[in-house]
Amino acid sequence: MKLQALTALLFSTATLRGTCAQSHVRHHRQHRSQHDAMVARGGQPPVASLANRQAGNPAGSSSKPPAPTPQGSGSGGIAATPRPTPVAPGGTGTNGVPPLNAISSGMPAGTPLPVPTNYAPGAIPPVPGAPPLPAPCSSEVQQWMQELTGVYIPPLSPTVNGTCAGDPAAAAEATARGWWTCSWITRDTDITTCPTPLDWGVSFDDGPSPWSEKLLNYMGSQDLKATFFVVGSRVIERPNVLVEEYMTGNEISVHTWSHHPLTSLTNEQIVAELGWTRKVIQTVLGVTPTTMRPPYGDIDDRVRAISLAMGMVPVIWTSTPASGPFDTNDWKVAGGLLNGAASYNAFEAILGNATSLSTGFIVLEHDLFEVTVDLAIGYTLNAALAHDPPFSLKPIGNCSNIPVGNMYVETNTNITFPYRNNTVVTTTNTTTSSRGSDSGSGSGSASQLHSNSATGRRKSLPWVVAGLIGGYVVVDSLT
Ligand SMILES: [Zn+2]
Repeated sequence: MKLQALTALLFSTATLRGTCAQSHVRHHRQHRSQHDAMVARGGQPPVASLANRQAGNPAGSSSKPPAPTPQGSGSGGIAATPRPTPVAPGGTGTNGVPPLNAISSGMPAGTPLPVPTNYAPGAIPPVPGAPPLPAPCSSEVQQWMQELTGVYIPPLSPTVNGTCAGDPAAAAEATARGWWTCSWITRDTDITTCPTPLDWGVSFDDGPSPWSEKLLNYMGSQDLKATFFVVGSRVIERPNVLVEEYMTGNEISVHTWSHHPLTSLTNEQIVAELGWTRKVIQTVLGVTPTTMRPPYGDIDDRVRAISLAMGMVPVIWTSTPASGPFDTNDWKVAGGLLNGAASYNAFEAILGNATSLSTGFIVLEHDLFEVTVDLAIGYTLNAALAHDPPFSLKPIGNCSNIPVGNMYVETNTNITFPYRNNTVVTTTNTTTSSRGSDSGSGSGSASQLHSNSATGRRKSLPWVVAGLIGGYVVVDSLT
């Protein structure tokens, strides 16, 4: 999602915290005022953590002041408050519940109570001998870190908060960093367009949400398929929605666990964000995506290298010098920055250039809010289907001529996709993909990612151009 200010509106649950995610705290605090302003403008916080954000606490933690841990609990409760006494409608009986003769099936419902305490990862439970609560930087994350061993990861320092204004020094060298956020620079290893003109790569980010099913119903009625870039912490909230998306022929991809701008995180935090998300997807679906999309498109060569080392190819929405990003701006409506008409008209202007492109394009939309889903099914997709000349709406792997089996580790038989970081080439041209026209040439380019990995674990292997796969000229080692 493009709007940094909506971060904490979107992600209330299970934000990665602890020693692996300290910069999350920093990032969140820096954006607190933006969040609050967004909410004041009418954003729809579907989550319970608004108070947390207003208090300047990291997403997922409580805004309540530290308090003694509840009786019988271990250490690590971020905050604990006495449970309020529930009051049912008409409840005048003992302890706020209705009189006994009023308790029956179908009686008026009260308001569900929130969980009063957010226990920190690593908190000690009250069971003698039990291990601490699982933490984001568990031994499992350390195991995933091993996937980076022998792979060249550019030594770029994390950006302050993933924004250009927040880190002018990094922004000044955005091209060299391959930092899309401040330069729209992409690399050959990014998927940024559909290769065939008039192909519309349909993507929805940030779900699964309560509104995803409304979108799926419409897509089913129109026989449309999309790529869903899902948030891990939301997958555990609505696993059945993810299953529905997958089983009805849509593609599933990783969009991190807590939707922080990845360039602002440490290597270990990035690994945790990607690793936990692919794990929960695999747990629910039985397959592990081979692609990912960075929240806000916030990617640089360090994030790229880590993603590729973990077997996930970055996917960004199309940007062109003439039209800018193919962003429906639906998030601006959810955030109260634009109304529906202004958002739609802005995107129509962008789309006006689409028919003159030499390629197709990938469009950014969201299925997190009802308004973004309404814009999609009532206007954006509707207009796409009615467009003359006709657009061909497809999931991104599909429009990229990538067999759907290659979109998941368990079904992938292609040794050249996802691209590997263990390849070595001598020139940029050797690694240029058929769609790399907007690639940057600064240090840390895709070719450098490859060439620098000559120090990697497979450096002694022979290197060859493996072939033309689905419109990509890719380089890989034969092993
Ligand atoms: Zn997003």
